[in-house]
Amino acid sequence: MNIVKVGNIDVEVTRKNIKNIRLSVYSLDGRVKLSIPENMDDKAAKDFVESKLSWIIKQKKKFSLQEKPKEKEYVSGENHYFFGNEYLLNIVETTGKQHVEIRNNKYMDLYVRPGSTKEKREKIMKEWYRHNLKTIIPGYIEKWEKIMNITVKEWGVKQMKTRWGTCNIRDKRIWINLELAKKNLHCLEYIVVHEMVHLLERYHNERFKSYMNKFLPNWESIRDELNGKNFKK
Ligand SMILES: [Zn+2]
Repeated sequence: MNIVKVGNIDVEVTRKNIKNIRLSVYSLDGRVKLSIPENMDDKAAKDFVESKLSWIIKQKKKFSLQEKPKEKEYVSGENHYFFGNEYLLNIVETTGKQHVEIRNNKYMDLYVRPGSTKEKREKIMKEWYRHNLKTIIPGYIEKWEKIMNITVKEWGVKQMKTRWGTCNIRDKRIWINLELAKKNLHCLEYIVVHEMVHLLERYHNERFKSYMNKFLPNWESIRDELNGKNFKK
C-alpha cells in the first residue's frame, strides 16, 4: 500500500489481482482507499482519483454530517432505554442502596451516592441491566431447549462491541450482549434462539436459515430491527 496525494486528500493505493478499479470512502473516519489492478501505474491511478474528486469530496462531507451516537452523561433529563421503552433518567442521591427503579412508565430513577461520578452511575445502570437480563434469559433457554431438543451448558451476559451474542459450540456456552437490555424483548429472544441454533448448525448457511425459519418465522425482521439502529450507549 502507498499513499498518493490528490489535492489535499491522502489516497491509500493498493495493487490487487483485480480487473476493475475500486474507490471507497469510509464512513467512520473519511479514509479514501483505492484498489487498482497490478499492472496499472501510479500516474493512471492518480488521474482516476482526480476524475472522481468531486464525488470523494461529496462523500466525505456527507459522512462528516452524519450523526454520531452520543455518549451518555448519566444526568437527570437524559433518555435511556430499557427493553425497548424510552425513559427519562432521574438522579436521586441516597446514602442507602444504590439501584434503579422504573416509575410511572416514564422515569428511570437512578439512586446513587451524593457526588457520584459518571462512571459510577454507569456501573450501577449496567449492573441493573445485567440483573434484568439474567432474570429473563433462563426462561428463554429452558423454552427453546425443549423445542430444539438440545442443552445449553453455560450462559452469560457481557458487554460486546460488535456482536449481539456468541456461541461456543464445543462447550455449549452462549454469551448475550448486555446492550440487549435496551432492546425489545423479542430481540433478546431472537438472539438467544440464534445462538442456540448454532448448537445445531455451526455456520450461517442454508441449514441454519431453515432452522431459524422453522423456529422464528419473522427472525429476519427482528434482525433488521436490531441492526438498522445504532448501538445506543
Ligand atoms: Zn451466528
